[in-house]
Amino acid sequence: MPKSVEEIFDFSQTSDACIKCGKCIPVCTIHQINPDETTSPRGFIDLLGAYKRGDLALDSTTKSIFESCFLCTNCVDVCPNSLPTDMVIEAVRADIAKEFGMPLFKRVAFYLLEHRKVMDIVMKFGFMFKTCAFSIEEAKGGLKARFAMPMVKKGRLIPSMMKRSFLNRYPEHIPATTPQAKPMRVAIFIGCLGNYNYAGIGESLVEILKALNIEIFIPKDQLCCGAPAYFTGAVDSVERMTKANIAYFESFMDSCDAMLIPEATCSAMVKHDWEIFFRNHDMPEWEARAKAVAQKIHMATAWLDEHTQLQSLLKERGASFDTAVTYHDPCHAKKVQGISQQPRNLLAPNYPLIEMSDPDRCCGFGGVTMQTEKFHFAEAAGKPKAAMIEQTQAHYVSAECSACRMQISQSLNEANAKTIFKNPLELIAKALKG
Ligand code: SF4
Ligand code: SF4
Repeated sequence: MPKSVEEIFDFSQTSDACIKCGKCIPVCTIHQINPDETTSPRGFIDLLGAYKRGDLALDSTTKSIFESCFLCTNCVDVCPNSLPTDMVIEAVRADIAKEFGMPLFKRVAFYLLEHRKVMDIVMKFGFMFKTCAFSIEEAKGGLKARFAMPMVKKGRLIPSMMKRSFLNRYPEHIPATTPQAKPMRVAIFIGCLGNYNYAGIGESLVEILKALNIEIFIPKDQLCCGAPAYFTGAVDSVERMTKANIAYFESFMDSCDAMLIPEATCSAMVKHDWEIFFRNHDMPEWEARAKAVAQKIHMATAWLDEHTQLQSLLKERGASFDTAVTYHDPCHAKKVQGISQQPRNLLAPNYPLIEMSDPDRCCGFGGVTMQTEKFHFAEAAGKPKAAMIEQTQAHYVSAECSACRMQISQSLNEANAKTIFKNPLELIAKALKG
């Protein structure tokens, strides 16, 4: 059970424990690239203690320090005192947003995430005019900036855009392939990058479910899970999106066996952070509702591996490829949800798997601030990940996370590496097709 912020904020005890410990420092993503005590979990906790006691003001320097955490949870994973440093950083980011206000580009981004119809139009325009500012990089699965733009340097690879989103392309109901008395029925929560940018993820999940003869429900009014706003401290946006999603999910959840999310970050947000958000904001009724809807929500590969015959189907009918795959463990999958073996179980029947030297090492995505204002940190954190992927000489790198995909694809692009990124569901669907 995670501790509340108030419990964590007993800084007299926490700081004493940290001084004698320091176990989290070697695994801290920001400390690895910026080796300074202030940018380490222990440093963050120390500064947060001073801030909570009123000895430290939130000025531009402290703001910058607290925004340099990647929220990778590596520190939480190794802490002998189970200190959820990520949670206290998330809480102080909400104070930062109140104190400094939200920059215009973030307000626009969160507005779009809350208003899907407007986002659909913006994305359509993006699709029509993308070649004005970007070249299409088919092999790398993205768009490359032709020139420097605000917060996008020349040559940077960003995700491609689809003509029609996943939610607009598919019908709401897709019946089971062959009639059955009571087929399994699952809903899909696609996530924003899967909806607008990475077409293959939703397509592959639909194909896999069809091959398993499972009835599909695609709830059209789903909104963003709120993760980008949550990690940036935009509390009001998170509250609106999570409440709207929970009320909507409750309206159909009883008719579904599960809701699948082919994304580590969205899945961790919905299953783990929604409940914590309401607990920390003293909304017990919503906390209970978040907990109830989370029961049927699963990361896609975990559920497919544990609740279906997919593994046997892949062994019996799947094509065998000699193109090797190396699997990166997204922080929000392995550390937050304990999911790492399931995607490997589903890839192993049809692809040679080669482990990279440190699949747990954070890719360096880090969230909206890290990908914009602090992109130099994301770049630095991405280099070692790209190097260990290249070292495997695998044809594909895979991770069930589009945030990792965006960051790893750019890091590989920067390193001029040939490895191609695919969500595991894309590789599994390819094997089923033969
Ligand atoms: S591992 Fe935990 S107790 Fe140890 S220094 Fe880090 S935060 Fe403090
Ligand atoms: S969440 Fe990651 S980057 Fe932030 S303090 Fe912990 S280990 Fe460091």
